[in-house]
Amino acid sequence: MPELPADAREFVDDLVGDRAAEWDLAGLIPDDVLRSLATRGLLCAEVPQASGGLGVSSAANGEFTAYVGSRCSSLRSVMTSQGMAAWTIQRLGNPQQHAEYLPKLAGGQLAAVAFSEPAAGSDLSAMTTTIEPDGDAVVVRGQKVWTTAAHYADMIVVVGRYGSGAAAVVVPASAPGVTVTRVPRPSGCRAAGHADVRLDDVRLPASAVLGGGQPLMLLVTTALAYGRLSVAWGCVGILRACLDAARHHARARQQFGRPLAQHQLVGRHLANLLTGEQIATRMCEHASRCWDSGSPDMVVASVLAKQVSAVQAAQGAAAAVQVLGSAAAHEGHAVERAYRDAKLMELIEGSTEICQLILSDHAVSMTA
Ligand code: FAD
Repeated sequence: MPELPADAREFVDDLVGDRAAEWDLAGLIPDDVLRSLATRGLLCAEVPQASGGLGVSSAANGEFTAYVGSRCSSLRSVMTSQGMAAWTIQRLGNPQQHAEYLPKLAGGQLAAVAFSEPAAGSDLSAMTTTIEPDGDAVVVRGQKVWTTAAHYADMIVVVGRYGSGAAAVVVPASAPGVTVTRVPRPSGCRAAGHADVRLDDVRLPASAVLGGGQPLMLLVTTALAYGRLSVAWGCVGILRACLDAARHHARARQQFGRPLAQHQLVGRHLANLLTGEQIATRMCEHASRCWDSGSPDMVVASVLAKQVSAVQAAQGAAAAVQVLGSAAAHEGHAVERAYRDAKLMELIEGSTEICQLILSDHAVSMTA
């Protein structure tokens, strides 16, 4: 399988530098940063080479996602949205749609994916957005909320009801009837461009409809599988950043005449952080292996990876704040950001409770 460009991490380092805190405080990532990564195909690196992408494996992209996540969770969130949009188009689209959209996503345009609505959060079956055929066009009507990266996006993949089933539709952000309104001051991943999206009689060619007529929850599960694994790898990045900050601080800072690391109760936090990072990494590696081998277990493995990694990241970030004490109590500090960002990972792409319900159903249905 193709490899990521050898300088991909260095490229991210150069772009992010020490600016993640500044972006967090401003609630924005500069457009040129996002475009530079998008133009090199790095925001959706699994798009096949035949469609203009880098065509790397889930495992390689996962490790890269963790790396970006260790530097800036907002940037990683944009990456998750871009990858999820590309995956949805890849899975639900026909060859013409692949040719139309995937090279754009691998070549510099930005995308978001919109499922959630005011009354449809965990329960996406309550979705009311409609995609109605009208001659050789479709008309999209509805209200989406909390769409990550929508503020930056050129195109928004909107999921809605279509006849007796569901579909996704690729909506240009500039289409008449589309209103994108930023979520004011989100508590975490503040620079990820979260926005509410109103769709007032948005008229599009029928060729923009992906997977028309599929059962809603099947379509949602297909799209979310990528998002869950990407978020899980992002949580591995949060854990690595927290472990790094905590161990450096615990070695350097002295209290009661010795380094913090030599106080056993502080050492326990470090041990728990390392354990969490390792557990999350192994779960993500397993899910990516399932993904790369096309195993039917990939959907459940992605839920498992997301569930474990998000919980570990939230606990690990809290432990890191505890180890750093007041040193982490500055708004925008890497560990303080991780604490806010990690908590949100327990809410999205299927909250902790929703992942537990999926895993419980899976456990009940297991035959061996
Ligand atoms: P609710 O569904 O109201 O749930 C509230 C609480 O109740 C949660 O703890 C939940 O686990 C629990 N709960 C609900 N039902 C059950 C149940 N049956 N059993 C047990 N517990 C239950 N949406 C998009 O479409 N695209 C995006 O890109 C996107 N990005 C997001 C980014 C961020 C930072 C955030 C915060 C949200 C984002 N969302 C996005 C929305 C996200 O998917 C929803 O917030 C999520 O699905 C939870 O829905 P809710 O917030 O309405 O909570």
